[in-house]
Amino acid sequence: MLAGQSGDYGQPPSRAAALMAVGLTQHYLEGAWFPKGGGQVLSDRLAAAIEEHGGKILLCSPARRILVEAGRVTGVEIDSHHLGRRVVRAPIVISNADYKRTVNELVGAAHFSKKTVARVERAEMSPAFGVLYLGLSRDLKAEGHPRTNYWIFPNPDLEAEYAAAARGEVGHTPMAYISIASLKDPTNRRVAPPGITNLQVMSLAPSSPAAWGVTEAELLSGAYRKSAGYQAKKRAFAEAMLRSASRVFPGIDQQIVYQEVATPLTHRRYTGATGGTSYGLAHTPAHFLRGRPGSKTELPGLYLAGASCRTGHGIAGVMMSGVAVTAELLGGRVWGEVFGKENAGPRPTNLTALRPDPLSSSAPLASPGRAEAAQRR
Ligand SMILES: Cc1cc2nc3c(=O)[nH]c(=O)nc-3n(C[C@H](O)[C@H](O)[C@H](O)COP(=O)(O)OP(=O)(O)OC[C@H]3O[C@@H](n4cnc5c(N)ncnc54)[C@H](O)[C@@H]3O)c2cc1C
Repeated sequence: MLAGQSGDYGQPPSRAAALMAVGLTQHYLEGAWFPKGGGQVLSDRLAAAIEEHGGKILLCSPARRILVEAGRVTGVEIDSHHLGRRVVRAPIVISNADYKRTVNELVGAAHFSKKTVARVERAEMSPAFGVLYLGLSRDLKAEGHPRTNYWIFPNPDLEAEYAAAARGEVGHTPMAYISIASLKDPTNRRVAPPGITNLQVMSLAPSSPAAWGVTEAELLSGAYRKSAGYQAKKRAFAEAMLRSASRVFPGIDQQIVYQEVATPLTHRRYTGATGGTSYGLAHTPAHFLRGRPGSKTELPGLYLAGASCRTGHGIAGVMMSGVAVTAELLGGRVWGEVFGKENAGPRPTNLTALRPDPLSSSAPLASPGRAEAAQRR
């Protein structure tokens, strides 16, 4: 029972940091939250705030290197889909890429102390997840289904579940988590057309390309997506997810009108995270609090944010890492400005309106704003 939400921190009882497990459980006892309009709204708000303050956002522009000269950071080299390869000079760089990639690939181990290099070498990443996204030809809202998540444990031995995923295996009926977007955000047209339920089934999934029948070279080139072996592994994963989900929703495999699978390789392609994890460093005692990096690094000008940081993973954890790095740069008053009494209670609605989203309003789908909004995404 105590480990019933272990998937939210990605460690079995024998390895999890106890305080992480307790904190996570406590946070759900207070209730869970979902942003109206979906997760994209968080990014859009952040983007709007950056642009309002004169900042610029470049999509499809991965940073290839964080530049270091005379022992301090001097900028980044980007490989932009829009602008080509460019150097952007800056005295401060905040990396949201994961800790291992930041140190080893973006900056280069040569710029860090032996102690840090050894720490990064020892660092263990969290496991990754696979997701089966479904559109179902039934309306759970109309059926009065409760707004809840499900944890499904066909096998009570959690240790075995984590060990199997670490070995690169997907079980016959693995532990799974079901989240139902249609119930969480019932008025959002983007989630699903009327009468259709949008539902996701998630589970631990192997991180290594080999477990998905793919080579590292195929992964890097993107060719893996069309490989027959990968497609077969994806189908097998979807079937396993459906077997687990049918314990809560019998006959679910007969109600599918839309289906899509995201594997750790998909997550790696989109986010660049080591092994495709979204939880950063493993949530074990070795990587708890001071076992995770803070906002400031030993390299002058280099700062960190994201799930590998001390504030932890998940939306709340990584948002907190943003506050922490801002406080590091602008001073401790930032904490008060964000969490002070004056900000308690309902927020004033003086936020600039986002550009209208044609899919979640009654505006015609072909409105001119759409292409612009799509481009921004
Ligand atoms: C399916 C799924 C469901 C989840 N559901 C929840 C949930 O309900 N609640 C919750 O709290 N958490 C949830 N999580 C976890 C949560 O999404 C992550 O912990 C969180 O998003 C991690 O934030 P991050 O900023 O560290 O990394 P990311 O969100 O991956 O952001 C890193 C960003 O950096 C960019 N990037 C990386 N490298 C470079 C580079 N070299 N140059 C330029 N950009 C780069 C990536 O493209 C990405 O946009 C979920 C995760 C998954 C996979």
